[in-house]
Amino acid sequence: MVEVVIRKGRERSLQRFHPWVFSGSIASVADGVTDGDVVRVVGYKQQFLGMGHYQSGSISLKMLTFDDEAIDEAWFSKRIASAAAMRASMGLPSEHTNGFRLVHGEGDGLPGLIIDVYNNVAVVQPHSPGMEASLPHIEQALHKIDLGLEAIVHKPTGSRHTEVLSGKTSDRVLIRENGLSFHVDPIRGQKTGFFLDQRNNRHLLRSLCQDQGVLNVFSYTGGFSMAALAGGARSVISVDSSAKVLELAEENAALNEGADRHRVLKTDAVPYLENLSEKYGVIVLDPPAFAKHKSARHNALQAYSRINQAALQCIESGGYLLTFSCSQVVDRGLFQDAVTAAAIRAGRTVQVLQHLRQPEDHPVSLFHPEGEYLKGLLLRVQ
Ligand code: SAH
Repeated sequence: MVEVVIRKGRERSLQRFHPWVFSGSIASVADGVTDGDVVRVVGYKQQFLGMGHYQSGSISLKMLTFDDEAIDEAWFSKRIASAAAMRASMGLPSEHTNGFRLVHGEGDGLPGLIIDVYNNVAVVQPHSPGMEASLPHIEQALHKIDLGLEAIVHKPTGSRHTEVLSGKTSDRVLIRENGLSFHVDPIRGQKTGFFLDQRNNRHLLRSLCQDQGVLNVFSYTGGFSMAALAGGARSVISVDSSAKVLELAEENAALNEGADRHRVLKTDAVPYLENLSEKYGVIVLDPPAFAKHKSARHNALQAYSRINQAALQCIESGGYLLTFSCSQVVDRGLFQDAVTAAAIRAGRTVQVLQHLRQPEDHPVSLFHPEGEYLKGLLLRVQ
């Protein structure tokens, strides 16, 4: 087994079970190790620290285990079965909800691996060369669990094409979420096809919308919009810059009740918000990650502040704003500061009613707080 040696003193984060090792902490890498290999990780005195996936780049190791065990198909089966058991105990899947995240990377002890389940289709998205190389094991492990899967799809990140590993699927997979129906496109959709991480927040929105005019900005295929319609909204507008996702939002409205109260608007949301003059009872702001790296954080905070200011200015007295950031490098404190600055500039008095986050099928390892990426606020605007 090939070894990677950690520099003296740098083994401490591994002893605290942090799953990443940065390139600066590596003393040496055995000859012949290539991206995606499983390696044995040892300290400067050759003491065993764990097993990890090696990759060149800023993060050099993603740790798979801190025990001395083989990383084989049985190991993947055990971890994936454990992830499925946790979801089952949380009522996922159920009659009302059959779209859920089965594996959430570090949060499930499988760094670099995302698996979302859409009804009877599993979409596997590796985020590391190691998980890419482990696809055959992952596929076998999925065949063994009892989720009624009929297809397994590999959806690589970036511009590479989706491939169906087994079974058959289409670009319209029907799922249920809290009793609402959605078409998910696992082939060409963004991410794995649907933003499952907003399930609980969409459910919350539903309780706030009776007779309200609702503006859903960065709507994607209308997840929040369908919840608002089900909650009795008077009118709902889904705003997104992609015509393709808005087509699906319209199809989704037709699958549920209230399509006549829904319309879509294809436009760049930032200037749109800044020029908005109508008022709304409820606005949802769920932008894409404005900062993917620390270097972009400052600009991202300004962008969050700008769109939140614009939205706050357009909320009726007593109305609600649900506002989110999914940028991993913007933590909850920074995000709240940006929204506070926005409220001051908008001249509105604002109450925080709830702190919002990702749901239980997107767990965070206590040893990897970076996994808590989705932050949101439910605000009441006076
Ligand atoms: N709230 C959605 C997920 C939003 S994902 C849900 O619950 O499903 C972010 C969306 O923002 C994507 O659909 C993307 O097409 C859209 N987007 C990105 N940049 C945009 C821009 N400048 N203006 C409008 N929409 C944009």
